[in-house]
Amino acid sequence: MSKLVIFCDFDGTITIQDNIISIMKKFAPPEYLPIKENILGQKQSIREGVAEMFALLPASLKDQIVSYLLEQAQIREGFAEFVSYTRKHNLPLYIVSGGIDFFVEPMLKEFGPFSDVYCNASNFSGETIQIEFPHGCDEQCTSQGCGCCKPSIIRQLQDNNALSVVIGDSITDLEAAKMADLVIARDFLITKCEELNIPYEPFENFRDVMNIIDAKLGVEI
Ligand code: MG
Ligand code: ZN
Repeated sequence: MSKLVIFCDFDGTITIQDNIISIMKKFAPPEYLPIKENILGQKQSIREGVAEMFALLPASLKDQIVSYLLEQAQIREGFAEFVSYTRKHNLPLYIVSGGIDFFVEPMLKEFGPFSDVYCNASNFSGETIQIEFPHGCDEQCTSQGCGCCKPSIIRQLQDNNALSVVIGDSITDLEAAKMADLVIARDFLITKCEELNIPYEPFENFRDVMNIIDAKLGVEI
């Protein structure tokens, strides 16, 4: 049987919506909009843009933001079963997220523990929310502005005897997808994979993900 290591994105993959955008829509002044556009247009690095957007929010909003997300965010169908499935089959499951610890951790709490959770960090000691980047780019990363650098994390954790599976939905998963043995994709990541001829399997929920992995378990990719 093949050994697999799974790297799963959070925003837009485990959750239906992108949580940073939900936070900004609800709590930020309109100044966040040009920053968001610059990030999407690749005119500004994710790292710099995310830090600037959160700097628009008073640190005192922390608890309100977390309650808002816990109330409103939807977890994609089948995620809890998928976590049990990885435990049953002894498959390491790493969450690699461009989200921030103060909301990623409480939102994942009821589903864990995981092999590990990698995301950005936060500091509430100032007037406004400060974002910190404990998982920055290594020297091999071609972007150097990722914030939470998924390809660097995968390089660190990669086990040469195991096949790597990347599950994701967007541009921030692309560099990780290029390194993966199996890509399970939805939304914009599908568009990019097709553009670049990266083989992928499409998914809409975590039942699809389990079926895809089932089909690959025991089969060399
Ligand atoms: Mg995502
Ligand atoms: Zn990077």
